[in-house]
Amino acid sequence: MSKFVVFTDLDGTLLDHKSCSFRRALPALDVMVRRQIAVVPVSSKTAAEMRYWMKLLSLHGPFVSEDGGGIFIPEGYFPGSIPGAVKENSELRISLGAGIMEAREGLRKVSSEAGVAVTGFGDLKEDEVLELTGLKAAELEASMAREYDEPFLLVDNDSAALLFEVAQKNGFSVVRGDGIFHISRGCDKGRAVEILTELFRRLYPEAVTIGIGDCANDISLLHSVDHAYLVMRHDGTYDPEVSDESVKKVGGIGPHGWRMAMEEVFNVVGY
Ligand SMILES: [Mg+2]
Repeated sequence: MSKFVVFTDLDGTLLDHKSCSFRRALPALDVMVRRQIAVVPVSSKTAAEMRYWMKLLSLHGPFVSEDGGGIFIPEGYFPGSIPGAVKENSELRISLGAGIMEAREGLRKVSSEAGVAVTGFGDLKEDEVLELTGLKAAELEASMAREYDEPFLLVDNDSAALLFEVAQKNGFSVVRGDGIFHISRGCDKGRAVEILTELFRRLYPEAVTIGIGDCANDISLLHSVDHAYLVMRHDGTYDPEVSDESVKKVGGIGPHGWRMAMEEVFNVVGY
């Protein structure tokens, strides 16, 4: 039987866009946890936020924070030594992204060079972040503990293409999530997925990889797996920027679509 590894986005994919509930995905997630199919969250969230969600989702394996900035692996999860990994408590960390200060400095430089006005989250007051993100006050500290990539808003979304171009020229990458942009250097979700896939193949040489997301910031993830799925956004549409034919569109929103995609995987492999 094939061994599957699922790389999944969280916000708007496994977690509902507004309520963050994963109730509708639970029937499929339960099957996967019981059958020890690895589910690896790959998110824009910080490591502190990811640890909270890993517990709620009953997941105990690796995860990826901040759009591929950091890979976190429980010690002893993979056999052998892991190049570039640094031990922190009972975890190994691989840092792919340059630090947050470099990302913030990059945002200032790119914004001024492109003549495009931006609002970086690092420059906002706490109440402004709460209002913009809909986070609760108790969630703020973990959400602001950013280490690799800086979320920001554009004053005029039509200027996105110009900003992307100038960022790229300066060696930074900018991705768009659901309404919020992120800037970083040296990392993307796809690179993190490729590194983890190599490591999973130490455990299961025949591992087949599945990727699932909802937005443009998942494109590199979806391009780095054997089978890619795109769920509908909260308004029932698909992100038009994810137009690749190799990415299969599932007919459900967020966690509901997630369940449908995973059930298709189960059917194909006869789980
Ligand atoms: Mg998402």
